[in-house]
Amino acid sequence: MSVLTDILTEKCPKCGKGKVFAEKGNIFLFRLPKMNSNCSNCNHKFEKEPGYFFGSMFVSYALVFAEMVVFFLIVNQFVESYLTIVVLIGILSVLLSTFNFRLSRMLWIYMLDGKNKQL
Ligand SMILES: [Zn+2]
Repeated sequence: MSVLTDILTEKCPKCGKGKVFAEKGNIFLFRLPKMNSNCSNCNHKFEKEPGYFFGSMFVSYALVFAEMVVFFLIVNQFVESYLTIVVLIGILSVLLSTFNFRLSRMLWIYMLDGKNKQL
């Protein structure tokens, strides 16, 4: 599988088979995604040290900003009130929060700990 497919399907960065997340989370039930500590296939440790995923917050920031810009450009064609657009963007960011949480961590893992990296 390609790296992009592995990231989107949340597979282990080393073997590409084990799942990184045990639970996907659900914002309507106030449940955050839950990560596995090690890969079920190759026993690769995902969180190298405490605070390892601190940097994924910056990835998440960039991801959410890009989503907001795209959403604004689309919605601005149909809605004239900026206040309505801001409220819609707020709702969108809440609805996509668990997806962004998982995707930003996956991007962070693959940037620092991908198949070709040796730490
Ligand atoms: Zn693995």
